[in-house]
Amino acid sequence: MASTVEQTLVLVKPDGVQRGLIGPIFTRLEGRGLRIVAMKMLHMDDKMARGHYAVHEGKPFFKGLVEFITSGPIVAMVLEGPRAVELVRNAMGATDPAKAAPGTIRGDWGVDIGMNLVHGSDSAANARHEIDHFFDRSEIVDYERDIDKWIVEAA
Ligand code: UDP
Ligand code: MG
Repeated sequence: MASTVEQTLVLVKPDGVQRGLIGPIFTRLEGRGLRIVAMKMLHMDDKMARGHYAVHEGKPFFKGLVEFITSGPIVAMVLEGPRAVELVRNAMGATDPAKAAPGTIRGDWGVDIGMNLVHGSDSAANARHEIDHFFDRSEIVDYERDIDKWIVEAA
């Protein structure tokens, strides 16, 4: 049964890049059946980080979060597929790796609530906003794969 196709933003945070986990993290999400429609490496500056995490401004962890996310390069990508937001959030695991289930990215590789390896949008509406923060519309590729018909039943 086909459901609405969504796009979601995923970031491999500086700890994931430094630890050589870009590939393993992508492999899990791509292997799930989600289609990568944009990706790039960048080093966020303070302004961009504050914009991305604006919803957390004023919280006790905000300063440390901005320092951490700007401490090294990250990889940003847009993933597309039915219920992509929920699928990615579940594959990431709980924010605190100690509470993340085994088999999730944070549950398998994370220790610290700050250095928790990945970011994923938490709703389709926020995803749209976050994707626009990282990518020009022209950087998002519209294509289909032959295997897509083996991932979702036709409507
Ligand atoms: N964070 C933190 N301490 C906290 C809560 C969050 O350092 O007590 C960091 C952590 O890196 C997290 C990010 O802030 O991923 C954004 O928090 P959010 O609640 O949105 O968690 P997420 O959506 O990433 O699971
Ligand atoms: Mg969040």
